[in-house]
Amino acid sequence: MGKVLIIGAGGVGTVVAHKMAGLPDVFTEVLLASRTKSKCDTIAKNIGGNRIKTAQVDADNVPELVELINDFKPDLVVNVALPYQDLTIMDACLETGVSYLDTANYEPKEEAKFEYKWQWAYADRFKQAGITAILGCGFDPGVTSIYTAYAAKHHFDEIQYLDIVDCNAGDHGKAFATNFNPEINIREVTQKGKYWENGQWVTTEPHEIHKPLNYPEIGPKESYVIYHEELESLVKNYPTLKRARFWMTFGQEYLTHLRVIQNIGMAGIEPIMYNGVEIVPIQFLKAVLPNPGELGENYTGWTSIGCRIKGLKDGKEKTYYVYNNCSHEVAYKETGTQGVSYTTGVPAMIGAMMYLKGIWKKPGVYNVEEFNPDPFMEQLNNHGLPWVEQHDIDLEL
Ligand code: NDP
Repeated sequence: MGKVLIIGAGGVGTVVAHKMAGLPDVFTEVLLASRTKSKCDTIAKNIGGNRIKTAQVDADNVPELVELINDFKPDLVVNVALPYQDLTIMDACLETGVSYLDTANYEPKEEAKFEYKWQWAYADRFKQAGITAILGCGFDPGVTSIYTAYAAKHHFDEIQYLDIVDCNAGDHGKAFATNFNPEINIREVTQKGKYWENGQWVTTEPHEIHKPLNYPEIGPKESYVIYHEELESLVKNYPTLKRARFWMTFGQEYLTHLRVIQNIGMAGIEPIMYNGVEIVPIQFLKAVLPNPGELGENYTGWTSIGCRIKGLKDGKEKTYYVYNNCSHEVAYKETGTQGVSYTTGVPAMIGAMMYLKGIWKKPGVYNVEEFNPDPFMEQLNNHGLPWVEQHDIDLEL
């Protein structure tokens, strides 16, 4: 059906490549390119069957990207490198007339601040070029946004309260590790908290609001309000929302490590001189922390991510909870990566499938909730991320 260029050979890229390799009717040719080609080669070798071609590319360099895209001529570029590369890859897509999909919004390297404004600013140019950009097609953002769209379409006349709940109840056996790129993850979770209420953003100190929430098959876990990128597009696309929050679970041990990391300056993003070499503390920290892509082997337990929604249906108040539980062990058996890479890579593959099948194809720049959620929801059940619905329950929120 189509050719895809995947950029980024980390944990998420591994899952996207595995999943695409297993669907040759949809993904007829797949090229995996990244900064370090040997990582692409290892992934391709593990998948086997000569399904994945590999290449080296510096995705910060637009001419290099353009050359690679012109050589391979993909129908779609799937960006699972880092958020820093979003704009250069979008520039290369514009120059070559190829559509684009990613899982995380742009963040400048020099400022820990992610916002959609930079990518939304490409909307007119993508429209004029007749190409599609699908933004935020991982799990959160991604499936959480699609769950919201599905709930709004099928179960509510008006959605009013949205709480996205993200629990990782897994155990990787390390004293401290992050589940995806440490630099991006630590920048995200050490920020101030922020949520939407009554038409405006409310800012909190980091981890200021917290309470135990019960997760299905897992039980109660302390959950913290943090700012997460899908809130920005969801409050724009669902103006009936009176409140929208994002909750994430953290263990005490994780928070203690995080506090120490911050207190001693290791989360810093400003370059410092060390022995005559300029280093960025958080990038050095990434180099000594466990590689998230290699946590899988001993990872046990589950992730549980979902949306708890309250609103109106037929003039009456209604509650709804839709979620997926994903086993780290099952994810590892299938793809050699842990559950967080799996829950991100599978939706990216499905988004790419939606594009190639022409279901999610419209010129411009769109967040995933702006497309039809139904065919995507159907594919989640077919490709390892089945979802469960509960109606009229106590949301605890
Ligand atoms: P990793 O750090 O494991 O992988 C990133 C990959 O990108 C590495 O292979 C890296 O190369 C490559 N890369 C980095 N810079 C460049 C560059 N300039 N040119 C080419 N390649 C480059 O990250 P993850 O796989 O954990 O995460 C990938 C993306 O997924 C991130 O953007 C992350 O924010 C997002 N994500 C989204 C989630 C969601 O639910 N929406 C959840 C989790 C992650 P090298 O190997 O040489 O370092």
